[in-house]
Amino acid sequence: MSGQISRQVFVRRALGGLAGAVLLSSCRQATPHAVSSPGPPDWTALGGRLDGALILPSDAQYGPSKGIFNARFNGSTPAAVLSAASVTDVQKALAFASENHIGVSVRSGGHSYIGASSLDATLVIDLRRLPGGVDVGNDQVTLSPATDLDSIQTQLASRGRSIPSGSCPTVGVAGLALGGGLGSDARLHGLTCDALVSAALVLPTGEMVTASADDHPDVFWALRGGGGGNLGVVTSLTFRTFPVSDRDVVTLTFPMEMAAAVIAGWQDWQSAADRNVWGMVNLTVGDGPGRCTVILATPSGSGPAVAGDMLSTAGLSALSTRTRTLNRIDFVHYFEGGDDARAPRAFVAGSDIVGEMTSAAAESIVTAMSAWPAGAGSATAVIESLSGAVSDVDPADSAFPWRRQAASVQWYTESTADAAAGWLTAAHHALGPASVGGYINYPEAGQPLARYLGPNLQQFNAIRQKYDPATVMRSGIGTGG
Ligand SMILES: Cc1cc2nc3c(=O)[nH]c(=O)nc-3n(C[C@H](O)[C@H](O)[C@H](O)COP(=O)(O)OP(=O)(O)OC[C@H]3O[C@@H](n4cnc5c(N)ncnc54)[C@H](O)[C@@H]3O)c2cc1C
Repeated sequence: MSGQISRQVFVRRALGGLAGAVLLSSCRQATPHAVSSPGPPDWTALGGRLDGALILPSDAQYGPSKGIFNARFNGSTPAAVLSAASVTDVQKALAFASENHIGVSVRSGGHSYIGASSLDATLVIDLRRLPGGVDVGNDQVTLSPATDLDSIQTQLASRGRSIPSGSCPTVGVAGLALGGGLGSDARLHGLTCDALVSAALVLPTGEMVTASADDHPDVFWALRGGGGGNLGVVTSLTFRTFPVSDRDVVTLTFPMEMAAAVIAGWQDWQSAADRNVWGMVNLTVGDGPGRCTVILATPSGSGPAVAGDMLSTAGLSALSTRTRTLNRIDFVHYFEGGDDARAPRAFVAGSDIVGEMTSAAAESIVTAMSAWPAGAGSATAVIESLSGAVSDVDPADSAFPWRRQAASVQWYTESTADAAAGWLTAAHHALGPASVGGYINYPEAGQPLARYLGPNLQQFNAIRQKYDPATVMRSGIGTGG
């Protein structure tokens, strides 16, 4: 489909001049190493007990088997990679890792920003061959953890249903849901984790539990927004689905000089708008004139009126406005951004959570963009409102804490490590007290877990300590290293 664009794709297209993006392999995140074990792990014995394949550094398949979406981590050095073919494989691998004091990192879709699904010195449990796929019921769907978002949306759309999800076609549902899951249905239907009904989880002991509102409710609390790579390995997830309808997508462009007014005006209007209306703001700088774009999703037929309402309420005028009316699957494909979105790439990204989008906070986002160094390619900020159904859930009722804040700001670049690191630091500095934390699915290496879980940190740590006291599971974040 022509003209389709997602948040990430928007970002990448905006960065089109960076075809030769530098591999930032020197930026491997800090990861703890396997602690001393009673003796060398008997990998051969483990491999002989499995339905799937155990791949060791000496095997020809080792390189491809540990590769993930962010090519910055091509140089990762896991102790071994298990391509799990059954839940029993997962149970055996976790029990083996626990006995031998080896950390475990889990790979579903492999889209962790910080390489947390292929951490150094860990046993990687790759879930892509796990059976299950997409099992659609009347108003629920049960998914195997590595199922990619495009497969889910395609199969659900053919039955007129969906779950709230993100935009990237190849992100895995487990990683998305465990960290929250922000997307274009969030204002009406909440985060991906808000639609979770139950999950099956293998604990570090190898024991299997079900987590739901009634069964292991503490685990269920932690799985909804506490981030992946904690407590154990999720082997299936069941979600509530919702019925879908056609949508209008309106794209409005503005001069970059108006960006602060656009962010503040859009946010004010958006937070009070009907829940059927969703939107985001994109700012791109570097490689040519800066760009400021608002993308709205509205009920079919209402796009021009809704966009007009936003412009008049916020006192804005757009340089251009374009409206498309899309059925569900075209809507999904529009935000996915086409085949190009599936290709792995090297990138650096991070996030801030803005507590209140005052004029000063909006200005600080623009200041952050102006800190991007000249000649370093391009960088983008993507701003999404946390209003509507996201705020229906009490912040203490799930591990995802940002239910009363204004917006998530994602910072993204495919430039060099040095340019990216300096910019992220400058961006956080520019936001200052306007930022209250970060989104755990857009994490940065070296940041503490407290930054992502805010007031829910203590409860989360207590649950993690209860189910994984030896920290067998590795998240790549904070002390969950
Ligand atoms: C191109 C792109 C687009 C994105 N778009 C969006 C978006 O629109 N909205 C949004 O909210 N996020 C988005 N994200 C962020 C995405 O949600 C996170 O990166 C997410 O963690 C990826 O999940 P995954 O399964 O693909 O990744 P993985 O790297 O496989 O896993 C991510 C983390 O979860 C852990 N994990 C994975 N599976 C399991 C499991 N079964 N049990 C326990 N732990 C597990 C891993 O160990 C790792 O710590 C995007 C990311 C990228 C790269």
